[in-house]
Amino acid sequence: MKKVFCIGEILIDFVAEKEGFDLSTAPAFTKKAGGAAANVACAIAKLGGKAIFLGCVGNDPFGAFLVKTLKTEGVDISLMQRADTFTTLAFVSLTGQGERDFVFCRGADREFNYELSLRKSLQGNMLHLGAATALLGGPLEKAYGKYLFDGLTAEMFISFDPNFRGDLWKGEEGTFIKKCIPFIERAQLCKFSQEEAQLLSGKTDLEAACDHFHDLGSGIVTVTLGQQGTLLSIWGKKRVVPSIPVKAVDTTGAGDAFIGCLLHQISQLGRLGALYDDTELLGAMVSRANRAGAITTTAYGAIAALPTRERLEP
Ligand code: ADP
Repeated sequence: MKKVFCIGEILIDFVAEKEGFDLSTAPAFTKKAGGAAANVACAIAKLGGKAIFLGCVGNDPFGAFLVKTLKTEGVDISLMQRADTFTTLAFVSLTGQGERDFVFCRGADREFNYELSLRKSLQGNMLHLGAATALLGGPLEKAYGKYLFDGLTAEMFISFDPNFRGDLWKGEEGTFIKKCIPFIERAQLCKFSQEEAQLLSGKTDLEAACDHFHDLGSGIVTVTLGQQGTLLSIWGKKRVVPSIPVKAVDTTGAGDAFIGCLLHQISQLGRLGALYDDTELLGAMVSRANRAGAITTTAYGAIAALPTRERLEP
């Protein structure tokens, strides 16, 4: 089984317990471990895979909570870093009219430093780059670019998820798109939400968006469609792979569960070429990943709701 190195965002989400309040009036918040790359690492580990998380938290109680959460889920945390800067925090509430109130306190996650010594353990393994905060500057963004380069040199299977955060890129969407392109050009697998596929391709039609990403260089493109499942495109051969019906209560982390489950299955393949010459195989993998995403929506929170291998079996 290949190791999956997941690099980037780790933070605490403080979620307002009651809907109908903005952040200035919300009376209480629940603390949840989060961050796209951290969620993906947990998704892989919970399914029995080998996930290694590379990211940075603060030398504070929230950092300790995040480290403990990942460790409990079975993620390899030996390459995590701690900084004197405070752990990154996000506060969110639902104000009642379908609006979110959101405050982001960026801290230690940006302080993740590149480690040259890691190069020797990358060969033939997998690299997941879930952008999210990683393209917002700081040492993490530099490390991100360097690991992409190292990943290519070490013939890693590279996957990319832009994890676009509209709240963090208001008015700067063009910069975000520009920063994502080198990753789409080089990743074998790209995962987008519908909104991301449209934003990054400049096309409203999702099939045309997939073709745009293939033209850039990505061989396998997935566009997650919520309860409708996933649009899968392998070098332009497209199909919608349906999900399963569930009673969804919280969609947080569904996309991370999806890509984590897909990467876990790929990590178990003896020969990666099989992904391209057998479209049925990849379709079945996406179907299973859809199930992981669907199950994650049936409980609150991201990491706590991710399925174990036993839960995922039909
Ligand atoms: P994101 O927008 O974060 O990428 P989605 O919300 O589209 O993620 O969910 C990822 C995957 O999880 C979907 O492709 C789908 O297979 C599954 N999924 C999500 N929501 C539901 C739902 N309500 N019912 C069934 N499956 C779902």
